[in-house]
Formats: sequence, structure tokens, C-alpha cells
Amino acid sequence: MLIVTEDICKQVIGRADAFVAVEAVFAAMAKGDAYNFPVIREAIGHADALYGFKSGFDRAGLVLGLKSGGYWPGNMDKGLTNHQSTVFLFDPDTGMLQALVGGNYLTAVRTAASSSISIAHLARKDAKVLGMVGAGHQAGFQLRAAAEQREFNKVVAWNYHPDMLPGLGKVAEEIGLPFEAVEREQLGAEADVIISITAAHEPLLMKDWVKPGTHLACMGTDTAGKQEMDPALLAAATVFTDEVAQSISIGEAQHAIAAGLIVEDAITSIGDVINGNHPGRASDDEITLFDGTGVGLQDLAVASAAARLAEEQGKARQVDF
Ligand code: NAD
Repeated sequence: MLIVTEDICKQVIGRADAFVAVEAVFAAMAKGDAYNFPVIREAIGHADALYGFKSGFDRAGLVLGLKSGGYWPGNMDKGLTNHQSTVFLFDPDTGMLQALVGGNYLTAVRTAASSSISIAHLARKDAKVLGMVGAGHQAGFQLRAAAEQREFNKVVAWNYHPDMLPGLGKVAEEIGLPFEAVEREQLGAEADVIISITAAHEPLLMKDWVKPGTHLACMGTDTAGKQEMDPALLAAATVFTDEVAQSISIGEAQHAIAAGLIVEDAITSIGDVINGNHPGRASDDEITLFDGTGVGLQDLAVASAAARLAEEQGKARQVDF
């Protein structure tokens, strides 16, 4: 059995590895070769924490396992990240434990890979301004991954807690992009690509603020009751997702579906675009919206890549179990 620590994950998995692993598993999901098992997520009544499991099996990549973890909102005050998770990988032929892999860094890179895959496949090629809604732990990872997909020349950003914006501004500075904190209406008017990655429970962006041709990657809504977008925006957009079942139940589409503004059949798996079974963006004026709900198979895909690379590079610890 291999142990791959958080530090080793950071050493062996880069953005490009995560992009390739997540894109492949999205493609396998759309072909029916990989599937996620029902998600367990519980408020445990302690430390205000949400805890659960995401699991699945990728028959194409032969990856079986689960991510255990959740969200502890008080962690930041203890110098820890609020999301805490660990991935367990099992041998699909025997059920034996194959690897224990730190899941915190991998969660951030696999989530950033997800939105960047949507940008690669759906955003206008001439997109120049990147809009960021959110400035928490995930936002910097999102910004770095998105910046590699188009030739952006500026970042505009808004956050519910404005004091967090300079941290995101530093990331933009590090990758050489001018950064401006703006109001939400201005963000919608300027941005060609918008990423939302917040813990919001109400719409942050209204339909009329978003210009034609925009691509939105909505990444924050991963639980029933959470919300970042005006449901009318989903009705105006062509909606894509990592997994339709999650999109309509715990993703951003849950609200537009509940309001009867869109139907499930109108939501397309991003894997169908990757596989060439859906054309993706149809025109320069179309608003495309990716509902990135976060599936267990993403975690397993990057954890499996991390275990393989760590073993190849002699960095994984072998333990008899
Ligand atoms: P974080 O705690 O570091 O940051 C939270 C962010 O949400 C900050 O920008 C904060 O200002 C903002 N926020 C908090 N309360 C808000 C409110 N009431 N209205 C609007 N904004 C508010 O968290 P993080 O690790 O950056 O994660 C952000 C969100 O992304 C979380 O909700 C998390 O569950 C979600 N997430 C989704 C995926 C996925 O795959 N889709 C993966 C990881 C995290």
C-alpha cells in the first residue's frame, strides 16, 4: 500500500496533469465507462462541520475508491484550510487498499482543472477579460488554471468579503495579469469569462449584468441550498455540467430546475463536448454556463495520477497493510 502525503502530491501533480486526468474521466463518464456513487454529506453537529464521502468507479481507467472529508469553517483560525479530505484507492480486482492520498491540494487542483476544461472547450477563443467572483482558498487555484486557457489581459474581481481580494490580486500579479476590484455589475459588463467560487446561498450575478458571449464556470454551488447565479441566467444560457444528476440536485441548476425555468434534458455533460458528441458553443453571442458540482471521480482521477507519479519517482511511502 502506498502513502502519498499532501507535500508529495504538490511535488508530483501540476495543473497540466490534473487537466489531463479530469478531462479523461469526464469523457469516460459521458461514455458510461465511469460512474459516481451517491454522495453522502452530513452536518455532523460538531465544529459546524459538513462531512461525507464521494466515491465511484472508472472502468476505463481502472480506478476505484472514495474521498472522505468535508468542510470545517473554523479551520482558518487554526491555520488550517477549511476543506479537509483524504482519498482511498482500492484495487478493483481484489478490493485491497492500494493507496492513501492527501486530498486537500488535489481537491483544489481538480476543481481548478474542471473550470479550466470548461473554458478550454466552451469560452470564446478571443476572450480577454477574466472575472473572478470569490477570493477564498480555491480562487487562486482557479485563477492560475484559467489563465492558461486563453490570452487574458486583465482580471476583474468581486468578493463578498472585500478584505480577501488583495490575496487574489497577488496571484494575478504573480502571473503578470493586471487586477482590478470592481462592483458586480461592472464585472459582468467587462468579463468574457467568469468563474464563481464562493459559499453563497443567494444569487450574486444577475442575468442582465452578463453580456452576450460570456462563458461562466459556476464552481461554488455543490450542496442543496447553495446558489451563486440568477436562475434566469441559466435559462438564458446553454448549460453544461460535470454530471447532470448532481447539477439538478446539488449544483447551480437546482434553482432554475425547481423554478421550472430549465429542464434536465437541456443540460449537457461536458464529457459529450470532449468526446465530440456535442458541438459546445454554437455562436459568439451565446452565453455558455458550466455547472461544476465536483464529482468523486475527479478526486480519484487526480489521486490515481498522484499515486502513479509518486511511485515512479520513488516518492511514495510503501507500507505493509
Ligand atoms: P473559503 O472558505 O476559502 O472561501 C469562501 C469564499 O466564499 C470567499 O470568497 C468568501 O468571501 C465567500 N463567501 C462566504 N460567505 C459568502 C456569502 N454569504 N455570500 C457570498 N460569498 C460568500 O472556501 P473555498 O475553499 O474557496 O471554497 C469556496 C466554495 O467552493 C465553497 O462553497 C466550497 O464548498 C466550493 N467548492 C466547490 C468545489 C466543486 O468541485 N464544485 C470544490 C471545492 C470547493
